[in-house]
Amino acid sequence: MRARPRRGQAYIDRQIKQMLGEMADRLEANRPGGTITVIGRHALLQATTMDPTLLPALRAKAPDIDGAIPRRQYAALLRQAADTMTPAPPVCCRKPMRLDGTQYVCDACQAFTDQAAPTRADRVTALHAAADRDYAGEAARQITDG
Ligand SMILES: [Zn+2]
Repeated sequence: MRARPRRGQAYIDRQIKQMLGEMADRLEANRPGGTITVIGRHALLQATTMDPTLLPALRAKAPDIDGAIPRRQYAALLRQAADTMTPAPPVCCRKPMRLDGTQYVCDACQAFTDQAAPTRADRVTALHAAADRDYAGEAARQITDG
């Protein structure tokens, strides 16, 4: 049995942040000295994603263009927009995880991650690692807690 992938706000934010970077890469790799117009921005957005959830979210984050601006300059604006995005915390046990240093922690199940909500596979891997360390003690505790 596989857990269905989550499409929460944290997931969307991570995707948008990554796509803003991809758009900037594309502008810099392709005629960086040229200009991009309002229509060019629209085409760039559509070339980046056609996903009905992600496209409007990406459009909202990608800065507007007034007339036309150099592609290199727009790439810099896109990177700036990506940098200022603070991703929403991943969700675990139906609650946002708490940021602890560089990783997110779930106070309910003690799962932790520095990237995304842990998948079932991640938890099984963690369980096996615990079992290897201390066959009887820690693994058994995790099984009863989980
Ligand atoms: Zn949890």
